[in-house]
Amino acid sequence: MSAERIDGKAYAAGLRQRLAAAVPAFERATGRVPGLAVVLVGEDPASAVYVRSKGKATVEAGMASFEHKLPADTSEADLLALVDQLNRDATVDGILVQLPLPRQIDEQRVIAAIDPDKDVDGFHVANAGRLAVGQPGFVPCTPLGCLMLLQDRLGDLSGMEAVVIGRSNIVGKPMAQLLLGANCTVTIAHSRTRDLPAVVRRADIVVAAVGRPEMVKGDWLKPGAVVIDVGINRVPAAEEGKTRLVGDVDYASAAEVASAITPVPGGVGPMTIAVLLRNTLVAAFRRAGLAAPEGL
Ligand code: NDP
Repeated sequence: MSAERIDGKAYAAGLRQRLAAAVPAFERATGRVPGLAVVLVGEDPASAVYVRSKGKATVEAGMASFEHKLPADTSEADLLALVDQLNRDATVDGILVQLPLPRQIDEQRVIAAIDPDKDVDGFHVANAGRLAVGQPGFVPCTPLGCLMLLQDRLGDLSGMEAVVIGRSNIVGKPMAQLLLGANCTVTIAHSRTRDLPAVVRRADIVVAAVGRPEMVKGDWLKPGAVVIDVGINRVPAAEEGKTRLVGDVDYASAAEVASAITPVPGGVGPMTIAVLLRNTLVAAFRRAGLAAPEGL
């Protein structure tokens, strides 16, 4: 068997088009476009690249992007003051503080200071709680993107066995909650799980969010499983001095057994920014007291 490649890049492009198409209705109703504020503290090169691409994608979708770049030695009090200002700014619908933050700043304190109704990353405990109890809130972008790809591929997920490998607050835990909400039977595996291959082998759906290059092998999978690879790992390439990106799943062997699998790059990665824009648009509609468009 050779698995079908789940094209996250194409799905994300379609989602971004649907979002851009929904912006004019918001603008007609409110006289402004949705706005996303992104805060970057320090000069971490990877974070700077993420922030740039988020800003570009926001503008491409017809929304307003507000970038705030602060020096690496910014105090926690100054960052909290900026968050407070953004909370009160009516033109800002979504606030994203790029992580990781420099050592002198307590990340949890900063996340807790963001207005939960503008928390488009879905990291605030209020939004984690809303997800857990099934209330509308904001769900972290990467796992929500994974759910969209799964539902696009499989339709109704009811009754399916899902195994999520990884239990981070950003990916694994919200992913498990989303799958539970979609009526899957969910197992969360982690570094203390015994006989991980046996646990993974019972899954119809495998979501790998581990951060270990090519850890999940084809012979761990049930034939026909659908595999979502969240991992982004940089490893040395064949060519001296170069690197390449691989996921947490050994794509070549997994593709022999799975029915469908996301590639790395081009799978889950492009979904994250598209869902961030989706959350921002939804935040804008909700804050204006308007119904968010269907099908986002
Ligand atoms: P974390 O490091 O926060 O969590 C990793 C999880 O994997 C932990 O729960 C850990 O278990 C578990 N784990 C580690 N080793 C093993 C093992 N040998 N067997 C089973 N479980 C193990 O990572 P994140 O959740 O933040 O990210 C996971 C991956 O996803 C990374 O590669 C990251 O780069 C990528 N990522 C990609 C995104 C995208 O946009 N595509 C966005 C976010 C992340 P324990 O809790 O016991 O330590």
